[in-house]
Amino acid sequence: MDSVQTQQAEMDPILRSAAEAARGFMPPDEGLALYQAGLSAALTLPGSPLLEVGSYCGKSSVYLGAAAQAADTVLIAVDHHRGSEENQPGWEWHEPDLMDDELGVMDTLGWFRRTIYLAGLEGSVIAVAGDSPTVSRVWSTPCAFVFIDGGHGEEPAALDFRLWTPHVALGGTLAIHDVFPNPSDGGRPPYEQIYLPALASGQFKEVSATGSLRVLTRIL
Ligand code: SAH
Ligand code: MG
Repeated sequence: MDSVQTQQAEMDPILRSAAEAARGFMPPDEGLALYQAGLSAALTLPGSPLLEVGSYCGKSSVYLGAAAQAADTVLIAVDHHRGSEENQPGWEWHEPDLMDDELGVMDTLGWFRRTIYLAGLEGSVIAVAGDSPTVSRVWSTPCAFVFIDGGHGEEPAALDFRLWTPHVALGGTLAIHDVFPNPSDGGRPPYEQIYLPALASGQFKEVSATGSLRVLTRIL
């Protein structure tokens, strides 16, 4: 690592506080690992964007937006902002104040925009409010980094694997959240439908693991 990279590898403390204060589901140690992986990928493939699937209220987007800003690129943050299955009323991860009561649907876009504004990252983070498979089908720019943290059901996870991993540039990075090899730690789909198939494809090699975050690099 040269001196420039060493200097940038430390996340800006103000952005770090903004990320820790944001609503969402990204523990600080995994967030920092995400930042490091995003930054390293962005510096390896200058000019290529970072992309995340599943932003919720923007917590992981601050970690990755900080990496994009440090490397002079952008983060594309894809989410339909209607919540995953487990965020719906009656499910374990439902937060009632995120409902649009008049429409009877979740809406996290306003919170996402507040988070990015408060972090001062509006110049580095581009929100795409849409359904992940639909967005992926019209996406054509190779990405330095793709972070998958969207729907955790079997079908959404399998679709995100099939439709987004081809957009990781050669030498780029695929990061996956909520990977639990041990079933007693959490749900299976990110492990079975994304992580295992990525390794089995021979196209990706694991480079690090932090909590439930797995970072893979594209070698083929
Ligand atoms: N990365 C976030 C947590 C993401 S939660 C954090 O750091 O806090 C999962 C998100 O995936 C939810 O916001 C949900 O709306 C989104 N999601 C689920 N299925 C989706 C789909 N098909 N298209 C777009 N977004 C989806
Ligand atoms: Mg997650």
